[in-house]
Amino acid sequence: MGIHDQRLQDTIALAKSKPGQLLIDGQWVNALSGETFTTATPATGQVIREVAKGGPGDIDLAVAAARRALEEGPWSRFSPFERQAVLLKLADLVEEHWDDIAKLDSLDLGNPITRTAAGKRRSVGLLRYYAGLATAIHGHTIETSAPGNPLAYTLKEPVGVVGAINPWNGPFGMSVWKIAPALATGCTVVLKPAEQAPLSPIYFGQLCLEAGVPPGVVNVISGMGDAGAHLAAHPGVDKVAFTGSTHVGQRIIEASAGNVKRVTLELGGKSPNIVFADANLDKAVPAAAMAVFLNSGQICSAGTRLFVEEAVYDEFIEKVAAFTTSLKVGDPLDLETQLGPVVSQEQMERIIGYLDIGREQGATVSAGGGRILEDGLEKGYFLQPTVFSGVDDDMKIAREEIFGPVLSALKFTDIDDVVRRANDTSFGLGSGVWTRDISKATQMSRRLKAGSVWVNSYQLMDPAVPFGGYKMSGYGRESGVEHIEEFLNTKAVWIAEG
Ligand code: NAD
Repeated sequence: MGIHDQRLQDTIALAKSKPGQLLIDGQWVNALSGETFTTATPATGQVIREVAKGGPGDIDLAVAAARRALEEGPWSRFSPFERQAVLLKLADLVEEHWDDIAKLDSLDLGNPITRTAAGKRRSVGLLRYYAGLATAIHGHTIETSAPGNPLAYTLKEPVGVVGAINPWNGPFGMSVWKIAPALATGCTVVLKPAEQAPLSPIYFGQLCLEAGVPPGVVNVISGMGDAGAHLAAHPGVDKVAFTGSTHVGQRIIEASAGNVKRVTLELGGKSPNIVFADANLDKAVPAAAMAVFLNSGQICSAGTRLFVEEAVYDEFIEKVAAFTTSLKVGDPLDLETQLGPVVSQEQMERIIGYLDIGREQGATVSAGGGRILEDGLEKGYFLQPTVFSGVDDDMKIAREEIFGPVLSALKFTDIDDVVRRANDTSFGLGSGVWTRDISKATQMSRRLKAGSVWVNSYQLMDPAVPFGGYKMSGYGRESGVEHIEEFLNTKAVWIAEG
């Protein structure tokens, strides 16, 4: 299944018809430096187009615009119902233009176009969910015991100017995930999308304008890490919402110290997915594979450490390997494709490095194991989905986040054994438990140190359900009512008798 060239060129033409500049104060502008950078499709390496390369000076302008919009613009006078109306309009526009959005992400990131039905449900759902929350923000009334029995109540106020910094593995969905709660709460935003996949986040800026988001409320600055670093350290920014690697997350914490910013961090993971012998294995086999291979393994909560109880280990690995080998890897714009390429040559080489390390350290390759250099895919960054079996806890492929289509399978003996080993990681983002025994399921869900526990499922997401990490997977929650709190300040007002 090679790359369909005409379809690729048509999609590149579509991408070129969309905006590629910086969005500052409601205007499309070039970078102050005049510089641009190119974005390429990982399916062939072909350049898609140039986009503006925003730097620190552009971030300064965007932060100033966001501050004005927060304090002086019409946005500061929008009622909750008016903010809700904007979000609902934005949801309608995203729904209407979904085909273009899906094509931009498929082109830029390489994720299969077949995944887009789920992506649409998620992005539109997030916008409608936060639209609902916009009118449900309220404080409390508190009876106090202070002398004279004064009354106290709390006011919820927008935290202010938000710097949103995103990775490349979910360009559109993650832009929505950061901007929707900001709009619901009355904050303003400067979004710095990842340099590897900036197209759909820039287009989202256009849809925000069309939806009636006032100038300066949403600003989009495509650029490199230096733009992100400047945003994270900026004294005019009140909160940073960051998703990305743990290494950069640590830099964000340091940068936030200057003006003691609020920070939320969604970072990396090395999540355990645990299959007990009593599980419905027919359901668990494809799910355990896709817990890793979805988006070619480029998902922070991927269930990359597959623990299987020893009684069913051999049978399970054999079936997972057979399922893995049957996956169709190819042209991301083809409706038959299940897995696309990984995002870049750099990422591909990093993953191949881990494949070599896995072999060197003694793991067995049960499926896949290398790059695909045939069937018309040789110019792109295509990897075979890979299953390593016989993995030990100390191997690098069991400890480090690979962020590629690589599953590491480990054998366990009983609950205590697997809980100890599953929790023996510096991360704590996702986890999966497969069993038909309810007491095992509840016990495991309490004992696993992770922000999400999926029982007889994996990677389920819903706008109403909070998502986030324990330990070095970060702090703060996205989605759910918890997310809204991350964008709000609480003010206590005391009313004594006059
Ligand atoms: P990354 O940390 O390299 O980059 C993320 C963003 O930060 C990019 O926009 C980048 O330009 C910017 N950046 C780089 N240096 C910066 C600095 N010093 N200060 C501020 N910003 C800076 O991550 P990536 O390679 O784009 O994405 C992959 C990582 O993201 C993986 O580790 C993955 O686990 C993580 N991730 C986590 C979640 C989650 O929800 N927990 C979701 C997706 C991805």
